[in-house]
Amino acid sequence: MSFDHLTTEQLRAIIHGKHPALVRGGNDWITDELAAVGLQESDEAADNLIRKMAKTGFGLCKARTRRGSPCRALGDGAGGRCILHGGASVGPVTLKGKQNALQALVRARLKRRGIDPDKL
Ligand SMILES: [Zn+2]
Repeated sequence: MSFDHLTTEQLRAIIHGKHPALVRGGNDWITDELAAVGLQESDEAADNLIRKMAKTGFGLCKARTRRGSPCRALGDGAGGRCILHGGASVGPVTLKGKQNALQALVRARLKRRGIDPDKL
């Protein structure tokens, strides 16, 4: 789905549709998010961020970077942080980790059906 042809106002409507809980008494949280990272709505960077928020439905991470400025990446993980700042897990990476995850899944499904996996 392409958002390139949409105006900023249309994008805002999409974001608000995805975040009804974040529209607080007419308070525009998108403006707050942009202000928190030091951007004016007229900035090109702000327009790019609004497009990203509309596409994903995520807000900004806003964790402190090493420079001390707020992170401008989208935060979809724990506490709304980005993947660099303690956000979303990427799941098991190593073969051993994937095997462990699969084993735990099978054991859980057997237990749910009343089957003891240790007695198989
Ligand atoms: Zn971040």
